[in-house]
Amino acid sequence: MKGYISQKIASIEQEIPQNVTLIGITKQVDTAAMREAYLAGIRNFGENRLQEALAKQQELEDLTDVSWHFIGHIQKNKVKKVLENFDWIHSVDSLALAKRMNRLARELDLVPKVFLQAKILPDPNKYGWEAEDLWQELEQINEYDSLNIQGLMTILPWGLSSKEASTAFQEVAELSAKIKSAGYSRLKMPELSMGMSGDYKLAIQAGASQIRLGRTIFGERNSK
Ligand SMILES: *Cc1c(COP(=O)(O)O)cnc(C)c1O
Repeated sequence: MKGYISQKIASIEQEIPQNVTLIGITKQVDTAAMREAYLAGIRNFGENRLQEALAKQQELEDLTDVSWHFIGHIQKNKVKKVLENFDWIHSVDSLALAKRMNRLARELDLVPKVFLQAKILPDPNKYGWEAEDLWQELEQINEYDSLNIQGLMTILPWGLSSKEASTAFQEVAELSAKIKSAGYSRLKMPELSMGMSGDYKLAIQAGASQIRLGRTIFGERNSK
């Protein structure tokens, strides 16, 4: 009999469009569960803590066709390690971080795929650019030629109604389209990273191309 994780993945894969990438968010999930997810077809894992992620990457070294996504806030002194160990970085959340990442990426001869984290609704607990600020800093961001900017990423505040969440996702999608049509050479915005366990269907309706699912696949995490 297939395990719970495999069944969940199969049912989610059935309900989402083929062009939407399902990232298994595996913070606090052990590598045995990650192997089960891999066997069920998951090839994208997302982590938010560097040390935890590096240990698991080592344990899963034999899974050579996995893409690793970093989704957590990045402290200054961790940028280099994140660059060296992740294929996608979803959490570029300030101009200072983008600048530093660009410089270190050039030094390391890397061109990481990154998302700019947008904060469309006020939320003191979250990082990211508010729309106005992002808009003002685009010209500068467009100069960072060692970053392969893929699009916007967002995390919604807790406790929104479906209608509010839906509206917020649409606003992020509109902001992304507006940035794209502004014509900056390096801001083509082909991807859109939004949607978690509680709201991914709404995110897909609004145009998400990458969804980040933890609890609905792997079960509840221990709250700390
Ligand atoms: C934890 C986390 C997720 C997954 O959240 P779930 O509710 O477990 O699906 C997605 N994105 C980010 C940035 C996260 O930190």
